[in-house]
Amino acid sequence: ISKIAVLTSGGDAPGMNPCIRAVVRTAIFNGLEVTGIKQGYKGMIEDDMQDMQRRSVSNILNLGGTILKTARCMEFHTDEGMEKAYQNLKKRGIQALVVIGGDGTFTGALRFSKKYPDIKVIGVPGTIDNDLYGSTYTLGFDTATNTVIDAIDKIRDTADAHDRLFFIEVMGRDSGAIALRAGICCGAEAILLPEKETAIEDLIKGLKGGEYDTKTSSIVIVAEGDKNGGVYDIAQKVKKEVTHYDIKVTILGHLQRGGAPSAFDRILGSRLGFAAVNALIKGESQQMVGLEANVIRLVSLEKALNQKDKFKLEDDLLEMAHVLSI
Ligand code: ATP
Repeated sequence: ISKIAVLTSGGDAPGMNPCIRAVVRTAIFNGLEVTGIKQGYKGMIEDDMQDMQRRSVSNILNLGGTILKTARCMEFHTDEGMEKAYQNLKKRGIQALVVIGGDGTFTGALRFSKKYPDIKVIGVPGTIDNDLYGSTYTLGFDTATNTVIDAIDKIRDTADAHDRLFFIEVMGRDSGAIALRAGICCGAEAILLPEKETAIEDLIKGLKGGEYDTKTSSIVIVAEGDKNGGVYDIAQKVKKEVTHYDIKVTILGHLQRGGAPSAFDRILGSRLGFAAVNALIKGESQQMVGLEANVIRLVSLEKALNQKDKFKLEDDLLEMAHVLSI
């Protein structure tokens, strides 16, 4: 191959920029031309792309977000949209793609590459949710977790000063990965996760007294996707029963996506971008690059997508979080 392109798609995640930098520089180092596609598949369809040089990615290691911008693009779901995207790539002589995103991005990439097998694709797992099979960590998860911890530490100060009980909602519609890690790091009294049902009665029992009665402040972390009806609902129900605390709710929201990537995500993004281009040079396609046991491996996109439900929160972390919160 002589010309590749890179895009970021779906939800943005800190670490995407170090990954773009690695893709661009690894490609140029190996004598390939590289094009940056704007706004994910939208830019592919609308021909919004530009050739990149080694200096196009100067001073971006420390930036959150993505310099290529990202988007959700419904048109790419259609045959017509894919055909337009394909024609634009052909016109520009692009033979391969590195797509950085989550499972939706990979589903689109795999469909596209099956339809047009002359375009090779490699996926890089970029999502703060850490919910992809084939990589112990996804790009952005570490930074997002650190951002959440920083915010909760600040809330803990005020919770403690006033004997308050805080319900804090963190991101994770289907994944409790951030909630679980943050809960352990911040000493949450309880962690409500989409993967594990927690009865409100049990939560109330725990917060009412007994083992918790000597605590002056409490933090309960609720992942967005918890099935108990949302953080305000949960707080209302608890308020009726637990009277010895002043109860407050905080939704951390989009601040969780921003900020400079952590050292971990800068290195992970660089490693995955470097590995993605090397895989394309070797002729690989329809694969995801992932990190397992600190080794970069390839796993087929098919497998990464189909085995997604096999991705589980670690049992020892779940048990430990419970034990350490007494
Ligand atoms: P995150 O996990 O952060 O949400 P994601 O990559 O899963 O990231 P999605 O919005 O699900 O984000 O997908 C990104 C884009 O991938 C979609 O906007 C769409 O353009 C494309 N895509 C998703 N599913 C398909 C599909 N079945 N066919 C074609 N394209 C798809």
